[in-house]
Amino acid sequence: MIEFRGVSKRFPDGTLAVDDFSFVLPSNKATVFVGSSGSGKTTLLRMINRMEDPTSGQVLIDGQDVGGLDRVKLRRSIGYVLQASGLLPHRQVLDNVTTVPRLNGVPRRKAREDALTLLDTVGLGRSLADRYPDQLSGGQQQRVGVARALASDPNILLMDEPFGAVDPIVRAELQVELNRLQRELGKTTVFVTHDIDEAFTIADQVVIFREGGIIAQAGTPAEILANPADDFVATFIGADKGKRTLHLQQRDGDDGVVLVVDGDGRPAGILSDQDATAP
Ligand code: ADP
Ligand code: MG
Repeated sequence: MIEFRGVSKRFPDGTLAVDDFSFVLPSNKATVFVGSSGSGKTTLLRMINRMEDPTSGQVLIDGQDVGGLDRVKLRRSIGYVLQASGLLPHRQVLDNVTTVPRLNGVPRRKAREDALTLLDTVGLGRSLADRYPDQLSGGQQQRVGVARALASDPNILLMDEPFGAVDPIVRAELQVELNRLQRELGKTTVFVTHDIDEAFTIADQVVIFREGGIIAQAGTPAEILANPADDFVATFIGADKGKRTLHLQQRDGDDGVVLVVDGDGRPAGILSDQDATAP
């Protein structure tokens, strides 16, 4: 469990990026932070692994204030995936994946065996193990980025717009894969995006932000779609859009959840046993 307790962050230039944010992220679930650019999502994420420290308030992991933990150890114990995969360009795929386990003292041979298994896990062929990052497609690079983040078998996986730079078709594939991984591995995942459809596809729980890390609404995709808290949320999730061609689609990896999807593939609602909640 990750808990934000009255967390604020003011940068030295005076920008108040996060203003008194309190929230609990349950273990083994995917929580997605979504909001427009500059709403404080990245700052919040980076306070979990102490890339940033709060100006006031606390971030706790399983009840322990991260402020009291060793930064380097903490960072190595938490998986982190960025938009630009952040792979080391002069090192082969396998060496990129083994970097953190090797730093943590795992013997080379074991680290390499584990890394090959991880390439399977993220749906990459083992034949790519000796490629260099620039010999991979954008989608493949992001998969390596995920494998690398998983390499130290972290309980927590932080993902900051990891699919932002790949084309829409590959992006949709990666979302489906991440869903599968999440069900399979049950990490405590925190995923940042500005794309509400991506948020609804991946999340167990969604937090929609206004400026300054202010929560506009938090809940499951079904709750938010069924009952947008206000006009801001309604606009953000596109519930106010006019005519839509609706159809039903089983959400990947999620038992029994049926999304109502419009003509552009945007989720418009959730179908439960009793009722359709499409606007
Ligand atoms: P998001 O990830 O939602 O786009 P950020 O957390 O990156 O938002 O940024 C929130 C606010 O904090 C923005 O106004 C941004 O310009 C500001 N900000 C982020 N990092 C810094 C920094 N290092 N120094 C000053 N301001 C920053
Ligand atoms: Mg950001």
